[in-house]
Amino acid sequence: MPAKKNPKKTVIKKDEKYVDGPRKMKAKGLQLLKGMKDVLPQDQRYWQFIFKACRRISNSHCFDWIETPILESTNLFIRTTGKDSDIIKKEMFSFTDQGGENISLRPEMTPGIARAYVEHGMINLPQPVKIFSYGPVFRHDKPQAGRYRQFSQLDFEILGDGAPAVDAELISMSYFILHDVGLETNVHVNSIGCPACRPQYRRLLVDYFRSKRKNLCEDCKERLNKNPMRILDCKEEACQEIGGEAPQTVDYLCDDCKTHFMKVLEHLDEADIPYTLDPKIVRGLDYYTKTTFEIFLVQKGEEKTGRQTALAAGGRYDGLIEQLGGRAETPACGFAVGVERIMLALKETEADVPPLKQADIFLAQLGVSARKQAVRLLEELREEGYHIKANLVKDSLSAQLGFANKLGVKITLILGQKEVLDKTILVRDMDTGSQEIVDINKLIPDLNKRLKKIEESII
Ligand code: ATP
Ligand code: MG
Repeated sequence: MPAKKNPKKTVIKKDEKYVDGPRKMKAKGLQLLKGMKDVLPQDQRYWQFIFKACRRISNSHCFDWIETPILESTNLFIRTTGKDSDIIKKEMFSFTDQGGENISLRPEMTPGIARAYVEHGMINLPQPVKIFSYGPVFRHDKPQAGRYRQFSQLDFEILGDGAPAVDAELISMSYFILHDVGLETNVHVNSIGCPACRPQYRRLLVDYFRSKRKNLCEDCKERLNKNPMRILDCKEEACQEIGGEAPQTVDYLCDDCKTHFMKVLEHLDEADIPYTLDPKIVRGLDYYTKTTFEIFLVQKGEEKTGRQTALAAGGRYDGLIEQLGGRAETPACGFAVGVERIMLALKETEADVPPLKQADIFLAQLGVSARKQAVRLLEELREEGYHIKANLVKDSLSAQLGFANKLGVKITLILGQKEVLDKTILVRDMDTGSQEIVDINKLIPDLNKRLKKIEESII
């Protein structure tokens, strides 16, 4: 076949080859799902920082770690979170599995933990049972900043104790987690009563919202019949305005709920936790009773109460365990913090977030036998607790040293054919550029001395 005359050349502009990948992925439907998020290596330091703050606090308060499955029976969430809640009606990722069972990706952690408490007879343990968990949750939310379809929660629950001090302990813990990562916050707290006092309040609320019905959003018109309290939690501006004038739960609490709430507030006063009484904190889930709270960022003296900005939220749920078949009147209370929202707040406030631990040592090698020995040496150094980066592919020493420089390591070890034969290694101090031949058997004590010396000089 004759060659084509003047074949058309595809000219790839400099940057185009980089955008081409994502574009092709999109065309093939292979890109990240809407509302999902990759947590890239550069964000890991935020992640670790938040996680460590939570672990420190959960450890000092003696919480035990639990992990429940990400998948649970859809029924569990319908029975607990509530069939008329936004989460169940609009946000659950549910499907029928190969066995014909209707299952869902967990939209929150409390139902799974409460199920585990009942299913494993934790009621027989000394009460209360304090539980911590961490992991992804899934909601088909409308994606926007701070609102994803998969996000991570750190969850804290205290089951089996109804004392107001428990609510206060949890509020205080959530406040101090945020404080410890460097965020100034304010707690919004409310009480939504119990099955004894809520019906009367509900009637008043329905009467009030009926009179404003035509100005409510379509969702709230439906909520009016099914769960009018949720209208107070609506994110629409018009509904929020109407909700602002609505009767407030705290004015209709029974004596028990009122006393409980007063005591929670006394504990918060005593602990100097900044809070605001907020009648709109009714929470979006069915199982809450009595105390409910959400925590908002305060930036430059101003509180960011936009409805997307609650960093943590929780409350008491005294009826849930019984509802799941557990012992009647088992009280419980908990909260969850949203890792992504805290990360955004840390970035927004330019909080001081320490970098992740970097490599202390770079191991450079030259030649086949050096490479073989390098693999073993890496493990020995790792066992000694060092963080080591190595390049076991490139042979050019200058390329490896250039790489070590970029990493900012304190020490580079150089292993060549000669060193392997002599049973030695070159130890290069990257700050001064000085190099020393060290007996390979004395390498660890030598490094311990050098790295300690350098650490001390930094301090
Ligand atoms: P919102 O009112 O903002 O929708 P929520 O009441 O649905 O929040 P909770 O169920 O209380 O949220 O979840 C606890 C925490 O999880 C929130 O305070 C927030 O930090 C985080 N969170 C909730 N939904 C999302 C989401 N879609 N994306 C990222 N984080 C979220
Ligand atoms: Mg929500």
